[in-house]
Amino acid sequence: MMSSIQPSQIFSIKTTYSPSSINESSFAQIGQNWCMSQGKHWPSELTGNVVTKNLKLLHYPHWVVSGNGAALWDGSVGRNYNEVELCSRCSGRGSIVIGSSRSTCSKCNGSGKVNVTKTLWRREQGTVLAKVQGRVIENFSSAVKCGDRVLSANEYVTDSNALSIVPPSGSTPSHAIEVAKNTVMGDLKRNAEKIARGMGDQARDVNVLNANLTELDTRVWLYPIYEGYYSHEGENLPVQIDGISGVIWAKLPTVVKDGRLREARRNWFVTLLVIGAVISYFSLSSSRNVTAQNWMIAGGVTLAVSWFITWCIVLPTMRAIQKNK
Ligand SMILES: [Zn+2]
Repeated sequence: MMSSIQPSQIFSIKTTYSPSSINESSFAQIGQNWCMSQGKHWPSELTGNVVTKNLKLLHYPHWVVSGNGAALWDGSVGRNYNEVELCSRCSGRGSIVIGSSRSTCSKCNGSGKVNVTKTLWRREQGTVLAKVQGRVIENFSSAVKCGDRVLSANEYVTDSNALSIVPPSGSTPSHAIEVAKNTVMGDLKRNAEKIARGMGDQARDVNVLNANLTELDTRVWLYPIYEGYYSHEGENLPVQIDGISGVIWAKLPTVVKDGRLREARRNWFVTLLVIGAVISYFSLSSSRNVTAQNWMIAGGVTLAVSWFITWCIVLPTMRAIQKNK
């Protein structure tokens, strides 16, 4: 893969930022709405004010990439076609003999023939272009939990020294140009695959060759996120509010998670017991010789199965889901 870059265009990284458009006086209300949506296990002493009172404005640097690319591509283009073949299950006889009985082959419905889709591959090549303009690269998908960034927000150039910036903020020019290069190359490759697919039904082994990348540019865009902690029963729980969309995320206290688990456990157990009892009742009452012992066995099995499903399947699943929140 060859590519040429004009070094003069790449060695300054401009920084822009979006100021927060959320009024800090609305945090308590945003927090309160969130608390109210947490259901009955939420501790009443945790108000919106308590949850959001220690938030600090941070800026998360995102890349904003522009650039053009032109390249050659080659690859395999596949055209699908149908062919009639002898059925492999009945060897074209249309029926299968087992012992003394003969039955119609279910694969070919007795015709002895099946339609097979095949692909004819041929090499193709051509040219491909890509144009990237102001694309925001999501840098912090795992650290930012309060929803997707609002990528249409206004940008302002500023003195970034005055802002609290979350690493990696010391983005080096060489890293910045790698990001731009990879973005435009990725588009060239995607576009080439699209062209190749359009020439047939499918494509594979598509390569981009002799790429010429021009006007590459990467800026750093500082995105406002309010971050902080709230405390409950010795736990420090992180909170984030998106400075533009106002979407809040906060970690749940253990007492809330435990309350939800207990409730779910009880609901599942009771539901399964009721289902088991109904099944037992109908299956036993339809048979003729039902003894007290039968009823006890059915009851025991229902209890054991309900217990097993609740504790060994439902609870571990719920804990795993909670862990990711
Ligand atoms: Zn057959």
